[in-house]
Amino acid sequence: NVEATDSKNLRVKLVLLGDSGVGKSCIVLRFVRGQFDPSSKVTVGASFLSQTVALQDSTTVKFEIWDTAGQERYAALAPLYYRGAAVAVVVYDITNPQSFNKAQYWVKELQKHGSPDIVLALVGNKADLQEKREVSIEDGMNHAEKNGMFFIETSAKTADNINQLFEVHLWYLFFSFL
Ligand code: GDP
Ligand code: MG
Repeated sequence: NVEATDSKNLRVKLVLLGDSGVGKSCIVLRFVRGQFDPSSKVTVGASFLSQTVALQDSTTVKFEIWDTAGQERYAALAPLYYRGAAVAVVVYDITNPQSFNKAQYWVKELQKHGSPDIVLALVGNKADLQEKREVSIEDGMNHAEKNGMFFIETSAKTADNINQLFEVHLWYLFFSFL
């Protein structure tokens, strides 16, 4: 949900879900710190980071980002993080079809158990690895369209589309909030 702390400052809770190793933590680090660490550590449980974006008219939007661990043994904890989220970002790795299947599982889970007004995004990460691509843009796009989701391909490594991934939601959220 989107909350106004006052008329000029909004807060957006956002959660990232997806298989372990698809690059969720790298996406968040790229967005929040502008960095890419190829030897980043595996997320245990979940981690929290926030980033405030200033808009032209001095409105600020604070993203409160929950980065979950993708491992099976933490799956039961996922609802703690996606409950109450305004945006759920489901990430897969374009070089890994199994991670795309896992993304489809998360989409179903969110539709069944998430809040009905949650905004869903499907993200194909590692778009810099074109020569190793195994999930086509069309497959990603079709799945997103069928489920009423945003779709974008990103690279945490090159920073391609990372800001867009977060900021694309603002328009939608503003309109639903106003
Ligand atoms: P998580 O388990 O989903 O949080 O995945 P991580 O963020 O820990 O990343 C897993 C591995 O993928 C790490 O070795 C990263 O360096 C690598 N990685 C993450 N994003 C990208 C990307 O956009 N491009 C490439 N080439 N590698 C990436
Ligand atoms: Mg992680």
